[in-house]
Amino acid sequence: MTTAYFSHPDCRAHEMGRGHPECPERLDAIEDHLLATGLDVALTRFDVPLVRREDLALAHATGYVAELSEFMQQASMRGEYRSVDPDTAVGPATWQAAMRAAGAAVAATDAVIDGRAENAFCAVRPPGHHATRSRAMGFCFFNNVAIAARHALDVRGLQRVAIVDFDVHHGNGTEDIIANDERVLMVSFFQDQLYPFSGGVPLGTNMINLPVPAYTRGGEIRELIEANWMPRLEAFKPQMLFISAGFDAHREDDLGQLGLVEADYEWITRRLVDVAERHAQRRIVSCLEGGYALGALARSVAAHLRVLASV
Ligand SMILES: [Zn+2]
Repeated sequence: MTTAYFSHPDCRAHEMGRGHPECPERLDAIEDHLLATGLDVALTRFDVPLVRREDLALAHATGYVAELSEFMQQASMRGEYRSVDPDTAVGPATWQAAMRAAGAAVAATDAVIDGRAENAFCAVRPPGHHATRSRAMGFCFFNNVAIAARHALDVRGLQRVAIVDFDVHHGNGTEDIIANDERVLMVSFFQDQLYPFSGGVPLGTNMINLPVPAYTRGGEIRELIEANWMPRLEAFKPQMLFISAGFDAHREDDLGQLGLVEADYEWITRRLVDVAERHAQRRIVSCLEGGYALGALARSVAAHLRVLASV
């Protein structure tokens, strides 16, 4: 069985202005490293369609999707940049990129459920986990993972899915969308007192939030995962796992101050694959979120993919 790899040139074309950390070069760094290490041959590349409106509506308010698409399409037609918040801008290529990123997550979900792939990684931009039901923020427009998880439940008929978020920032958007949807268990850790300054008190009983102080290292994170995530995941028995795979908790990443290294991402992925093997017919869809130190990002994605692809 194969590990599917979803990426598209449209996701590279999106950019938010010179010097912005969420930059096209992030995808180049990942691609280059996969080629240089030979890991690309262990992956099967799949086509990335544009997301359908019906799938966007599974996680976002209809009015929000209509307003944001109008806003993005105008930016695209006029070739201009428009700010959504101080960190987040829509540029001429953002509309297509956002539609591809969410489209990749949904297509990956279908490929895995249909058995065309054992698991999948979406190397996409823009990221998604800060996008709430009705607000774009923190470099995010559509919540790729929440859309995919709801697609698995509402369109493909699964009954229980888990969302795992290991980005350094709290996945406030995903939490907003799936809070109290008891078909979903969300587990995460994130740096406390960091953007978006939420997550201290979970919004629903279906989530485990682990805020950790700056400078926490991988060993402590592993202990927290073992003690808090694993028993809940085991009890929940998810039929599929979705990963908000942000790599900005890496020691070399300046957007956060946590101390993870490649071996920690490898360990976390291994623990999640174990859960997927026991309960979910190995089904995992992982989507890129943050990760801004280009070398560390590329090496960490490779560590994650080596476990997913068993190489
Ligand atoms: Zn992040």
